[in-house]
Amino acid sequence: MPRVRFAPSPTGYLHIGSARTFIFNWLYARHNQGTVILRIDDTDVERNTQASLDSIFDGLDWLDLGPNHGADEFYRQSERIDLHVKLANDIFAKGLAYRDFTPAEHTDADVAPSGAAWLFHPAMRNMTSEESDRRAAAGEPFVLRFRVPRETREAVTFADLVYGEQSKGTADIEDFALLRSNGLPTYHMASCADDADLRISHIIRGQDHLTNTFKHVLIFEALGATPPAFAHLPLLIAPDGSKLSKRKHGPVVSVTTYRDGGFLPHSYVNFLCLLGWSPKNDREVMSRQELVDVFTLEGVNRSNATVNFTDADPFDPKAVWLNAENVRALPLDELAARALPFALAAGFHTDEAQMRQIAPLIQERIRTFKDIATVADFFFVEELAPYDAAELIPQKGDAAMAAAALEAARDILQTAEFNHDGLDAALRAGALKLGVKPGQMFQPIRVAVCGRKNAPPLFETLVVLGRETCLHRIGRALEILHTTTTA
Ligand code: GLU
Repeated sequence: MPRVRFAPSPTGYLHIGSARTFIFNWLYARHNQGTVILRIDDTDVERNTQASLDSIFDGLDWLDLGPNHGADEFYRQSERIDLHVKLANDIFAKGLAYRDFTPAEHTDADVAPSGAAWLFHPAMRNMTSEESDRRAAAGEPFVLRFRVPRETREAVTFADLVYGEQSKGTADIEDFALLRSNGLPTYHMASCADDADLRISHIIRGQDHLTNTFKHVLIFEALGATPPAFAHLPLLIAPDGSKLSKRKHGPVVSVTTYRDGGFLPHSYVNFLCLLGWSPKNDREVMSRQELVDVFTLEGVNRSNATVNFTDADPFDPKAVWLNAENVRALPLDELAARALPFALAAGFHTDEAQMRQIAPLIQERIRTFKDIATVADFFFVEELAPYDAAELIPQKGDAAMAAAALEAARDILQTAEFNHDGLDAALRAGALKLGVKPGQMFQPIRVAVCGRKNAPPLFETLVVLGRETCLHRIGRALEILHTTTTA
């Protein structure tokens, strides 16, 4: 049974790439009846913030992958520092690490021949244990460094489940720190200590960590633990090919941007899955269960995945399309409940009952819930925004025809049975009587009540708006027509 972990550092909001890493871990675990561990990597006290932790939890909760932020086990790295230090000292006791007393600010300058990578300080690496113990006992600060076994080992190798066999010469791996001079563990030490202690079987994380993995393999071995399997995930990149970053690309990299943009959580999950993973069946729209059923690490690609956005539109068209598909499949009550906050946020007065009435009329027309403000505005407002009188003129008709149609409609709507079939029959009969095509009758009415030609089905719209509003708006349209034709 696999045990996987997602290990965010609470130093910013939940990044799109981190969300994808979490989802791939989660899918791998669910597909294989494994365990998902959420571990907060919060040992860097200077950079951690509670606000960041809250926003990571918010982002994970929005993804809606289950209770407890979608995880089965939860740990805070800051509560496990004793373990990290103990395991670092175990490595030291085995002779696989040494104390480096070089004052931090001199480390690089002291030893690096200019331009070459700094690997280690020979005087420190080769210090006798007596001297090392004496200086430590005297209270001299030191960094505990891993003694990379360059004499006995040519390379560190591991088989990445995505990128294949990886190898790096030990001559190119520096003697990295396990404990800082303040006695606290480094990321490498804390991460591997926890991964070993929590019996993590698969480390699935961003490709930017691949170079760390050589060091991690060395630590696992020094701990006497079998290194877990590694699967590194391709990077997410911007349309211009650069790595997605908050600094450069702003809010598009934050999960909450999609949440606030009116996406369903599952659409976003589905979209993220398609960034760097292709299912065998080549399907795109998949339910949560389908994703769980078909997810394998073999389907993860090696090439970077592009997230598309522009300055004007932060949302990837594929995500928008997936969301429109999912909105179409929503039960109407859920559609109404999810769209309501977006209508309210756009400043409209409405309620759940009205949203429930509107829901079937907009289901095919909204791509994200934010569209409610532009697709359904005329349901919520008292008076329509000004529109062009020319819109009222039917195809192959003129202003006189529009006026005749609207006048007839005004009479008909006063007495017609105000339901779909009643309005349908009465307005068609009205068109016949006027000698115009039904479409020539309906278009001026549609524009009069909605303020535009592109609108939901007419009779249902009239019913939801109600007799009084329809009559009022038709009256307004006649005034608009009159003013423009006499001007
Ligand atoms: N806390 C690390 C990060 O956020 C975890 C990396 C890892 O998965 O080992 O980058």
